Amino acid sequence: MTETNMKEMFSRQTIARRVEELAEQLNADYAGREVVFVCILKGAAIFIADLVRQLKFDVRIEFMKVASYEGTASTGKIDFSLDIGSDISGKDVVIVEDIIDTGNTLSFLSNHLAAKNPASVKICVLLDNPTRRGEECLSPDYTAFVIPNQFVVGYGLDYNGKYRHLPFIATLMR
Ligand code: 5GP
Ligand code: MG
Repeated sequence: MTETNMKEMFSRQTIARRVEELAEQLNADYAGREVVFVCILKGAAIFIADLVRQLKFDVRIEFMKVASYEGTASTGKIDFSLDIGSDISGKDVVIVEDIIDTGNTLSFLSNHLAAKNPASVKICVLLDNPTRRGEECLSPDYTAFVIPNQFVVGYGLDYNGKYRHLPFIATLMR
């Protein structure tokens, strides 16, 4: 399971503490509101599961699926395969994503959702790798960890479908 070319970056305990802090921030910001959380499959599934269980306001969960990566090299192509199933007009929306790298995926997603006339759209990411992103690009509203430009797996993030189940986040040396 854990391979020799894998090095732990954030432990299970560190992630749990940080997700708890993010939940507190969301509880303060959205107190008394109803919020639609949009989980970007598959990478954000584990993160959102831990996050929403600590929220104290009304929560709805929707799922969307896009894929811009194959292996560890960006294909630059965004494949959009599952849209949200409900009407979000007038609703507060929070997109939950595993990692923002170039920002292409989240720009595409937030534009797509903004076109459905929600009251607001915010972005919540587990990881932010800002290295390859231009200054003018969008930045997340909620971030658990900012990371250096390394390929990471675990806690939902995969390498060719593997390692999503790892309870920690690790770099993968190639
Ligand atoms: P962006 O469109 O921001 O360049 O890429 C974001 C997507 O690329 C993420 O949703 C994720 O699927 C994938 N990605 C980017 N960096 C990593 C990484 O370090 N590890 C893994 N597993 N996926 C990544
Ligand atoms: Mg992804």
